[in-house]
Amino acid sequence: MSLRSHNTTLGPAAGGVRMWPFATEAEALNDALRLSRAMTYKWAATGLNVGGGKCVVIGDPKRDKSEAPLRSLGRSIQRLHGLFLTGTDVDTTLQDMDIMRQESSDVVATSETAGGPGNSAPATAFGVVQGMRACLKATYGSPDLYGRHIAVQGVGEVGQAVVEQLLQAGATVTITDVDQQKLAQLAAQYGVHTVSPQVIYSLPADVYCPCALGAVLNDETIPTLQCKVVCGSANNQLAEERHGDQLEQRGIIYAPDYIVNAGGALFNVDSLNPNGFQRARAQAAVAHIYETMNHLLALAHEQHIPTYRAADVLAEQRIAQAKQHTPGGFHDWRR
Ligand code: NAD
Repeated sequence: MSLRSHNTTLGPAAGGVRMWPFATEAEALNDALRLSRAMTYKWAATGLNVGGGKCVVIGDPKRDKSEAPLRSLGRSIQRLHGLFLTGTDVDTTLQDMDIMRQESSDVVATSETAGGPGNSAPATAFGVVQGMRACLKATYGSPDLYGRHIAVQGVGEVGQAVVEQLLQAGATVTITDVDQQKLAQLAAQYGVHTVSPQVIYSLPADVYCPCALGAVLNDETIPTLQCKVVCGSANNQLAEERHGDQLEQRGIIYAPDYIVNAGGALFNVDSLNPNGFQRARAQAAVAHIYETMNHLLALAHEQHIPTYRAADVLAEQRIAQAKQHTPGGFHDWRR
């Protein structure tokens, strides 16, 4: 196991548990540090008082996950006395967290039956939709989704919840997925159009909403985009940072992934409140992504920088301010 905290200026390190069959310990360490850095930026920019951390477990999630090692991991986390807070990530589930929670109160993302927030995908989707509204306001002068056409790539847990929320708001939705059976079933269920996975990029839509894989904004796809806004949940959407510059040059607003997909994380962190998890309060924190995205767009405009860079500036400004006020480190805000 490699447990990494990157920056704890704002508060205790927080990030998910990832299980992967890394070839070497050094590879796992590198991944943990890279991912914990990303968490520092995500938390800081979204306004939460937690720092960046990540726990990486070397193992095959299909073969090596069982109660004993999960409990042992829970005990290791508990021994850190609140310095590391955790939840699900790639290849770990709420059921895994429920087991770890029996050993540590610092496992925050647990199922509703275990008294936690439960599945956070709808909250992630809600945050994406709030980010989208802010981008539409910047583009068309109104955040209204009614009559806007959104192309959703990937109708998994988050994508489906995005589609439902968009349809409720009166948007027109086109969906795609590599799972053709699921695609056909959901198209019939929601009464929406479908396209093949290759066509989604060039669809003439107001918003392209990537909710599947990373690196979807690259040299091949960017020239074909016909949308005004890119806003979706997928992590690491820019293949390289220069692709964020390319979107800017094409006049397409890019909603930085780690800002608009923070809804699930914001939702889970509410369970740290001394009075316990409260759905309405958690939902309000997610809704704030609309203001964060507005602020970020204004910053990008003022400083003449692309939005992906503005997200980093926002995070760095917040950490710098916190350092000024608490030069000796963070106060434990839960006590
Ligand atoms: P998921 O696995 O439930 O859904 C992903 C969907 O994308 C699947 O239906 C899959 O068939 C489809 N897909 C894969 N490759 C595709 C392609 N090339 N074209 C079209 N469809 C494709 O995952 P999820 O939980 O819905 O998460 C979606 C994305 O959002 C991931 O990148 C994830 O890391 C990110 N994310 C999720 C959360 C969350 O709360 N679940 C939070 C933050 C970020």
